[in-house]
Amino acid sequence: MSADHKPGSLLKPAVAAAKTANRRPGFPASLEAVVPSSGRAPVAAPAARARPAVSPVVPRTQGLGLDSEAVRARMVQKLAAQGISDPQVLAALGRVERHRFVDSALVGQAYEDTSLPIGLGQTISKPNVVARMLALLLQGRTQPLGRVLEIGTGCGYQAALLAQLATEVYSIERLRGLHDKARENIRPLRLPNLHLLFGDGMLGYAKGAPYAAIIAAAGGEAVPAAWTEQLAVGGRLVAPIHVSATAQALMVIDKTPQGLVQNVLEAVHFVPLKSGIQ
Ligand code: SAH
Repeated sequence: MSADHKPGSLLKPAVAAAKTANRRPGFPASLEAVVPSSGRAPVAAPAARARPAVSPVVPRTQGLGLDSEAVRARMVQKLAAQGISDPQVLAALGRVERHRFVDSALVGQAYEDTSLPIGLGQTISKPNVVARMLALLLQGRTQPLGRVLEIGTGCGYQAALLAQLATEVYSIERLRGLHDKARENIRPLRLPNLHLLFGDGMLGYAKGAPYAAIIAAAGGEAVPAAWTEQLAVGGRLVAPIHVSATAQALMVIDKTPQGLVQNVLEAVHFVPLKSGIQ
């Protein structure tokens, strides 16, 4: 685990913010001038202002005169129609601006139900799968979700959603380039309960244990022992796991006072869980 980014140290003075503030267009870039975005979404990035409308990528919604909040609302409606019913999950997906987490060339696809490349051969999962996994984490809970561990920060999108739903979130990424990218993406959102860590998530993160929930965004051959060890009794783990050489399925493991209870759900397709850091 890298010591350069300890929990709590996420929000450093925004010296590096200037470096990245104008990197991505707003959504849609050419409408920002006429659609004020201030104060709309609690997790909006105030520093990220639109570039002039020079991007060749014209968001599909432009002709409809929608801003990103309306487009997100439509995405949420579709997710609800597809069976995602947890109101907290839907609210979080409506708040977090997914287009801030993808490269500028992909902004126009940010609210489609599709996975998108985020660099270094990795992908941001499709909203439906993210919503499904988050709903599984919250299922049957009467109390708010406590400490959560995420394996595979990627661009930081799911981590930002988790930060809306849990009291503390520890998210680990093994690729330095993506860990840094996630830090840049997350910084303007000011989420003091989200701690980004650089390290091998197959080892979990013992310092934050026990966790009320553990969620993996990369598919392994089996569930690493560290994960179930670091799960609290009463906690739930949701992870894609290989059920054959080529097929993965979503696995839910509940840690009960009597032991681990495992359920294999629908087929999924995630990038591989790998050991070590790079
Ligand atoms: N939740 C992410 C999805 C990223 S894809 C998002 O919202 O963007 C899955 C990520 O898991 C990749 O970035 C990959 O590098 C990472 N990963 C794979 N094995 C890992 C490991 N052992 N520890 C930490 N991260 C890992």
